[in-house]
Amino acid sequence: MRWIVLAGLAFFLALFALTTFAPADADIEAQARTHFSTTDIERGREFSFQRRLLFWTGTFLQLAVLAGIVFSGLARKLADSCLTWTRGRWLLAVLLVGAVCYLAEEAVALPVALARLENLRAWGMTRRSTSDWLLERCLSHGLSAVAEGIVLVGLYLLMRCVPRAWPVLAALGGMAVGVVFALILPIWIAPLFNTFTPLEKTEWGYLREPVAELARRGGVPVDEILVMDASRQGSHTNAYFTGFGGTRRIVLYDTLLRQHMKAKDWREVEVILAHEMGHWQHDHIVTGIMIGGVAALAGFCLLSWILQRLVGRPPLRLTSPHDPAGVPLLMLLVVVGTWLAAPVGNAISRHFERQADLVSLEMTRNPEIFIDAEIRLARDNISNVTPNRWSILFMATHPPAVERIRMAEDGKKSSEAGR
Ligand SMILES: [Zn+2]
Repeated sequence: MRWIVLAGLAFFLALFALTTFAPADADIEAQARTHFSTTDIERGREFSFQRRLLFWTGTFLQLAVLAGIVFSGLARKLADSCLTWTRGRWLLAVLLVGAVCYLAEEAVALPVALARLENLRAWGMTRRSTSDWLLERCLSHGLSAVAEGIVLVGLYLLMRCVPRAWPVLAALGGMAVGVVFALILPIWIAPLFNTFTPLEKTEWGYLREPVAELARRGGVPVDEILVMDASRQGSHTNAYFTGFGGTRRIVLYDTLLRQHMKAKDWREVEVILAHEMGHWQHDHIVTGIMIGGVAALAGFCLLSWILQRLVGRPPLRLTSPHDPAGVPLLMLLVVVGTWLAAPVGNAISRHFERQADLVSLEMTRNPEIFIDAEIRLARDNISNVTPNRWSILFMATHPPAVERIRMAEDGKKSSEAGR
């Protein structure tokens, strides 16, 4: 068992060191220098370095808490106590063990999260008060605790009732949960945190017609473009495509519109909107849920094998695979598994982003404006425009800014050659 802990520690230490300290590849560095000033590059590096240190502190603390509970034998004692408190009510004990671990994780995560907020303030990325931030954190954690509780109950019921086929059923159930979540996220959950106003009712209402025209050209039936009051949380600029079936919509941050609209020239917003329409055209949310289902099936099969092997063995001495003492291990394996699968997951996500970029370039046929928008996005969000290959592999859901710029330049060259 000791070697498992040591291997895990070595893996995460290596990951931390490589993603944080390795230098960027020479071509990314050279590309960045042609589009960004030295100040922009240095600022982005410094900001991302500080964020990285805080992020890894949080990750190591979370791993230490969960691994400590699992490997010290505490998980066994905790499960036995919960079974005693609940007078042997097994499902309640499962939930209780999960709740204790969740609270233990939050106890170590909160100070780091506060430091991250302070860091954002220091960089002028937010001016929100701590009490406002704390209120929002309570709400989001309350919601995720409820969601995770439901998932945990479903999973353990399946493990107990269908001991052989549960991984398949759980993966199918996971996909159904994904669909429901995608469906309700924009209409029930997101509005708890922000106000969403139809574009036509905002100060940018005059964009309604050009946006409708763009949607017609892209062949996407967009009937809702919403503006989110992201300025409530900070100055981060973004746009996203969300929802499922009838709840599909495109959301633009008010911060994005303020930064990218120059007088009434909307061309930078146009390329960003067209990118979101690209996600719509390619049905990325549906594809994402299906790929997630396949990944979940592999993960559940592995989990089933591990839980079976641990029956009667230290440190958990499970009485059965669905013993509540396995819950902390399940939580730990989710974290570790997510990191192990990150290179594949991120590569798929970056592929989706490239597809959406291509749609945007084809729809708007204005690579110069696309490049301007990319540069502004990176600058406004103090992005690290010279990420190293390890941080791209394990942490980047989007291609580096310079890669997206290069794609626009390549498109420009080939269209000029075709003329
Ligand atoms: Zn995108």
